[in-house]
Amino acid sequence: METLWAPWRMQYIKRIKDDDGCIFCEKCAETKDRQNLILYRSESCFVMMNYYPYNNGHLLVVPYLHTADFSELSDEISLEIMRVIRKSTAILSAVMKCQGFNIGVNLGRCSGAGIDQHIHFHIVPRWNGDTNFMPVTGHTKVVNEALFETWETLKQHFKAK
Ligand SMILES: [Zn+2]
Repeated sequence: METLWAPWRMQYIKRIKDDDGCIFCEKCAETKDRQNLILYRSESCFVMMNYYPYNNGHLLVVPYLHTADFSELSDEISLEIMRVIRKSTAILSAVMKCQGFNIGVNLGRCSGAGIDQHIHFHIVPRWNGDTNFMPVTGHTKVVNEALFETWETLKQHFKAK
């Protein structure tokens, strides 16, 4: 598998090392959904865009439950996470015309989890040739501006369903 080259993520990796709080718990407790890039809230989980995406439309599905332990997710929460992932991929497919996805979870810092104390599922849309495309356009400023545009577009679809 080819790895996406995402240099703006270094800023993120450096930042979280200095931060003791849990950004998922903090952001979902706030009401600034646009600023926090939160797209959707269901009963036991929410969807937010990754501030430091691997690709355009990179979403995170996060249970409200603050846990690093997979076994603490109940059957109900697990099922709802899967439903929300399904809904999210349907929206991304329709809106962004992506050709594939990487969907997964990193458990523990050694697996590559940036925020290892609160489980979250990544949904990374993929297009043919995107590993070549992203290094050309991907620097922090461009990505940040595009994030809010993408949020506006996706938000309409999450609202509609
Ligand atoms: Zn948390």
